[in-house]
Amino acid sequence: MTAHPKNIVIAGGGTAGWIAAAALARKMGQLVNVRVIESEVIGTIGVGEATIPPLRTFHKLLQIDEQAFMRATAATFKLGIQFENWGDIGDSYIHSFGVTGQQSWLAEFVHFHLSAKARGFQGDYGDYCFELEAARQHKFATSPKSNIQYAYHLDAGDYVEFLKRFCSALGVVRTEGVIEHVAQHDNGDIKALHLQDGDIVEGDFFIDCTGFKGLLIEETLNTGFEDWSQWLMCDSACAVQTQSTQPAPPYTRAAAHHAGWQWEIPLQHRVGNGLVYASRFMSDDEARDTLLKNVKGEPLTTPKTLRFKTGRRKQAWNRNCLALGLASGFVEPLESTSIHLVMMGITRFMQLFPHSGHDPALIAEYNSQTQAELERIRDFIILHYHVTQREDSPFWQQCKTMDVPDSLAERITLFKAQAHAFQKQNELFRVDSWTQVMLGQGIAPTHFHPAATMLTDEQLQNSLKQQRERVLAAVKQLPEHADFVKGYCGAMRGE
Ligand SMILES: Cc1cc2nc3c(=O)[nH]c(=O)nc-3n(C[C@H](O)[C@H](O)[C@H](O)COP(=O)(O)OP(=O)(O)OC[C@H]3O[C@@H](n4cnc5c(N)ncnc54)[C@H](O)[C@@H]3O)c2cc1C
Repeated sequence: MTAHPKNIVIAGGGTAGWIAAAALARKMGQLVNVRVIESEVIGTIGVGEATIPPLRTFHKLLQIDEQAFMRATAATFKLGIQFENWGDIGDSYIHSFGVTGQQSWLAEFVHFHLSAKARGFQGDYGDYCFELEAARQHKFATSPKSNIQYAYHLDAGDYVEFLKRFCSALGVVRTEGVIEHVAQHDNGDIKALHLQDGDIVEGDFFIDCTGFKGLLIEETLNTGFEDWSQWLMCDSACAVQTQSTQPAPPYTRAAAHHAGWQWEIPLQHRVGNGLVYASRFMSDDEARDTLLKNVKGEPLTTPKTLRFKTGRRKQAWNRNCLALGLASGFVEPLESTSIHLVMMGITRFMQLFPHSGHDPALIAEYNSQTQAELERIRDFIILHYHVTQREDSPFWQQCKTMDVPDSLAERITLFKAQAHAFQKQNELFRVDSWTQVMLGQGIAPTHFHPAATMLTDEQLQNSLKQQRERVLAAVKQLPEHADFVKGYCGAMRGE
């Protein structure tokens, strides 16, 4: 590799490939030439439509106009995820993106809420979160001054097309073709990609966005994969798009079933649905039939079965190759973290840019940060499966009784005993997220911080009442989500 990797070749034009191209071209365009090779014959995975709030920061960094992006992708707003039947059959809670209750330096709001409950006061933990209440009532609005925490539901195919147009305006070169062979230098670094039509694309640095197979990172460099399926047993999904039957609510639905769960992602023009399942416990036919029985609207597409393996590439950056997206690993779609990880991966790469050859120290730093980030997300996802009262099927029995990673076991023990959750350095999920999910899955902490007992019954009750009233008053000001979307970013479509 030359001292300065001027020619960056991105193999694969799914969401990962085009996000990487967009970021490099927008932020480092004067330093690099970016080429994306993609194959229409192979196509993209076609799912990945729910996002989380950091995507907004990323779009701002790239100077992507929110309304234009939302119109182009028929996007709606997302305030969180509604989990149904997870803690137990019949249970429901929302993991929202907002902050719950008034914070104090000494103890999180959850301690005051637990103290109130112990004194017999009514009220759900989520009653004190603005975003959560807005989600419940299907309300939404945003403006430059508003502090509402939200993400998007977007059409995956349209998002790729939007990013392609964005990249094309920034000079990214697109090459259509199937990569047939990956040529290496004598030292093992990647030298060039040989396409089926005879074209040879050389590069200084390669980004593998070829999806699960990892054509460069795995099939060529044999980097190795750490398998997490002992904790995350779902390995398949059946996806179908359906007609909308109601105004889009501002949240994703994730409804558990006897061997996994089903997503419902409302867009402006249709709904994305998918049944995620463990093939050991559910056949493909049963999954397809269950999905079609559960969806609300008429199917617009033929149900598509997808296979995946949960785990991580042992080195996301190996030699002169960085893997992003599904090529770098996959946790689970449950908390919509995959697109986020692409964004974080390319941002980290730009920050640790290999300007003087691929220094092993840079690679080690990149890989260690990536590993820590992924393991924390992995733990958060496992939490949803493991902390449950469900024992109604072999799948849930196994989830409930399995050994979980020590890092997660310690968090659960601490929350059970003392109601403490924490966000580690550079961790994606906040204290609020851990708390909402731990309570939502049915953990009832034994103790809480004694600071909460310093308030009299009256003081505590008044404080909670005021907080609840503030939330309700703020939500009352908001329009219906679907009405706001129509006015703010309504997509002009024939459908
Ligand atoms: C069931 C499921 C649900 C998901 N839901 C979410 C979600 O809600 N939110 C979220 O953030 N993420 C989600 N994800 C993950 C998300 O779909 C991916 O992270 C995202 O789509 C990026 O995919 P990709 O670009 O890595 O791979 P792909 O979309 O598979 O793209 C691979 C690209 O490589 C090209 N390619 C492959 N081989 C060759 C070759 N030999 N020659 C030339 N080109 C080649 C393909 O043509 C394609 O362009 C989900 C994933 C699954 C499996």
